[in-house]
Amino acid sequence: MSSPETRLAFETPDEAVSRLAAIVTASDDGIISKSLDGIIIDWNAGAERIFGYTAAEVIGRPITILLPADRLDEEDQILARLRRGEKIDHFETQRRRKDGSIIDISVTVSPFFNRFDQLAGASEIVRDITAAKRSQLELQEREAHLRSVLDTVPDAMIIIDPRGIIQSFSLTAERLFGYKEAEVIGENVSMLMPPPYHEQHDSYLFRYRTTGERRIIGIGRLVVGQRRDGTTFPMELSVGEAGSAQRRMFIGFVRDLTERQQTQRRLQELQSELIHMSRYTALGEMASTLAHELNQPLSAIANYLNGGRRLLEGARPDMLPMAREAMERATEQALRAGQIIRRLRDFVSRGESEQALENLPKLIEEASALALVGIKETGVRVSYALDPEAVTVFVDKIQVQQVLLNLIRNAVEATQEMDRRDLSIRTRCPEAGIVEVSVTDTGTGISESIAPQLFQPFITTKEHGMGVGLSISRTIIEAHGGRLWAEPNPGGGTVFAFTLKTGLDEDDTHV
Ligand code: ADP
Repeated sequence: MSSPETRLAFETPDEAVSRLAAIVTASDDGIISKSLDGIIIDWNAGAERIFGYTAAEVIGRPITILLPADRLDEEDQILARLRRGEKIDHFETQRRRKDGSIIDISVTVSPFFNRFDQLAGASEIVRDITAAKRSQLELQEREAHLRSVLDTVPDAMIIIDPRGIIQSFSLTAERLFGYKEAEVIGENVSMLMPPPYHEQHDSYLFRYRTTGERRIIGIGRLVVGQRRDGTTFPMELSVGEAGSAQRRMFIGFVRDLTERQQTQRRLQELQSELIHMSRYTALGEMASTLAHELNQPLSAIANYLNGGRRLLEGARPDMLPMAREAMERATEQALRAGQIIRRLRDFVSRGESEQALENLPKLIEEASALALVGIKETGVRVSYALDPEAVTVFVDKIQVQQVLLNLIRNAVEATQEMDRRDLSIRTRCPEAGIVEVSVTDTGTGISESIAPQLFQPFITTKEHGMGVGLSISRTIIEAHGGRLWAEPNPGGGTVFAFTLKTGLDEDDTHV
């Protein structure tokens, strides 16, 4: 059984044989040997456990007693292959136990030779894989079941691993993004987002892995998705976490806001908010015009009265004190009126706005997702170029989002008739403490007929336009201490840009 080379130092052949016999006895696998005519010669404890026969019951009997009725010819085939000198590796088949039950096994058959180098028989190493096979089958069934359930869920579902690599992509996701599952499995999920979210996604995941800080898991957010053809669309994303500590996974449910009824509802909510805002800002507009108009005559009064007082000096001396007093009172009143108006103006421009430090990229992402809501299949591509330095701004978030919403909606409308419908949203820091946000389109450009009054209220070229968007936007930006302007896009179309304060310079002066 043992050749001299496999013997340990000082080991006798007998000792080597008993060492190998010990291994055979202790093995969990069934170890059987048979002669060339298929008679069982060796039968270990593992084989006893697997087949239910003791060694005494089977040694000397044909190995065919282990074959199920429908596999009786298998042994002949195995013997034929052995005679050709072949070894059979991990062959999966079925055998019959002593109690008649059928089990799944994996068997490796190797030939052995006598001292004349003639084929003498074969050894079989048998493993019972019934349980493993059953659980594999169950797993496949469960997976198929889960998949059929998930394919009927109206939301698109994407499963990624903690590194962002796509593991599963539902039918609805295929429809929504225009990719086939096979094209995206193994790819980074960031391929479904436009830049810069594309670039940032890995760092989001990294932060979550290292800090456990949740920005989106279990929360749900409005974000922008990118289809295979590069077009972008608004989507609502909710992410859940699943799996064990060793194999964590994230499941993202994506709802396309361009396609759903919910869009309508959201749009209405948004519109009513917009109308409310425009009323408020239109009032502000009116009041500030009024204030401006009134301020001029009032200061004129003050000037005239001052002049009159000087004229009176030198006239009849007994009238002088009274006249001077009257003039002084008039001056005081006029100045007071001016103050009231100034206060009113201050109230309107800053009054109810609630400014706070806000994250600009997030503010932009939300506003652009909202702006794209309801714009179905327009083929607009939105790209982002966000300066990593321009992160924090000191603003009233809702108001600035309203400005962005106006600019993006106008930009989308301006590109409707064009072949190229590209929108680009950029940020940069032109100087310390100032951030510039711009929305560039490849649209028609500003019509010459309205260009000089572009920012005045009720100037519109649209059939159903109100023409208040830009004037409101400018009021909002100016109330934030910034500027809003338009310029032609060198490549065709228009650039609208505005500035905001980062709010950081104030912090600096406090240090
Ligand atoms: P409305 O959109 O209701 O007309 P706005 O004040 O927002 O009101 O816009 C005023 C006008 O400015 C529009 O009617 C349009 O002619 C022009 N305009 C605004 N944005 C753009 C743009 N991106 N490209 C071309 N024209 C624009």
